[in-house]
Amino acid sequence: MSEPTMRQMWSETPGQLELRRRPIFQPKDDEVLVKVAYTGICPWDVRAFSGKSSVAFPRVLGHESAGTVAGFGDKVTDLELGQPVAADFIVKCGYCKACRRGRPNRCQNPTYQQFGGGYADYVCLPRRNIYPLRPSTSLKAAAFMEPLACVVRGQEMLQLHPGDVALVVGLGPIGLMHMQVARAFGAQVIAADLLPARREKAAQLGATWTVDPQETDLTAFVQEVTDGWGVDAAVIAVGVAPLIEQTLPLLAPGGRLNIFAGIYPKQTIQLDPNLIHYGEYVLTGSADSTPQDMERALELIQSGQVDTESLISHLLPLEELGRGFQMVANREGLKIMMAINPVETAET
Ligand SMILES: [Zn+2]
Ligand SMILES: [Zn+2]
Repeated sequence: MSEPTMRQMWSETPGQLELRRRPIFQPKDDEVLVKVAYTGICPWDVRAFSGKSSVAFPRVLGHESAGTVAGFGDKVTDLELGQPVAADFIVKCGYCKACRRGRPNRCQNPTYQQFGGGYADYVCLPRRNIYPLRPSTSLKAAAFMEPLACVVRGQEMLQLHPGDVALVVGLGPIGLMHMQVARAFGAQVIAADLLPARREKAAQLGATWTVDPQETDLTAFVQEVTDGWGVDAAVIAVGVAPLIEQTLPLLAPGGRLNIFAGIYPKQTIQLDPNLIHYGEYVLTGSADSTPQDMERALELIQSGQVDTESLISHLLPLEELGRGFQMVANREGLKIMMAINPVETAET
């Protein structure tokens, strides 16, 4: 009898993709086998695929997945076959200093699913990396759990209060989630991007104001809508270093700024320390996410407070992953998602 097999999009080296078949993972002990319905493409994947990062190859990329439980080891007692779930692909060690200091997102001994990423029919992860969903939750929406968790972490750094004005610079899928989480915190949001389609999407999803910073003088705009006060918080959701320099002076006294996006190639910036000193500014960064952030992200998705599903511009079959990477690299569309074993009808 031949073993049942599954598909995986294998990258032997950066820039190379090959649809391979392998035996389906056998979950043991506390492991859960997930049949992948959808996996979103993250700019991180595209950068890793380009070979410009230190990520190890060969590899199966993909870390933004939702699907259904297809099996589990004998130590798993609380899941059912067919149950909808979202997956966190980084297994934190739980005992390093970062884990014990409440920053498991910076775990010093993480285990990555190097040969078991989400561009595949199945993934196999420990129970603690599996997040059960309500039956009514859209799996497409839930595939955003990981990127939204990172956004939640960034937004918490901003310490928003109702009535605050927040500026979101860059309205890709990540910026559009920042905008919505800031709204959920009760802030009014200025959403800035050069692309009209992205500004339009921001307006649809509840941005208070949208601005084309090439057409409109952002400083004058901020002055006008905040009566000269400035923005209480700003997030840089695009990896362009000069935007940090340009955004800092827009902050109100006590303003917070989050450098959300990594910046490659590496660059330095010049900031006026007196602005930070007299303005009592707080400069923050955030990277990846903790299980707490994941939990909160899922709640935002399942409550409808953040609309992730409408960020999907393209659903592609697994075989077209290469095309999807190219589209993300070209900033085509918004969220490009792989429909691997789609269980809902595609509306996009
Ligand atoms: Zn991601
Ligand atoms: Zn750790």
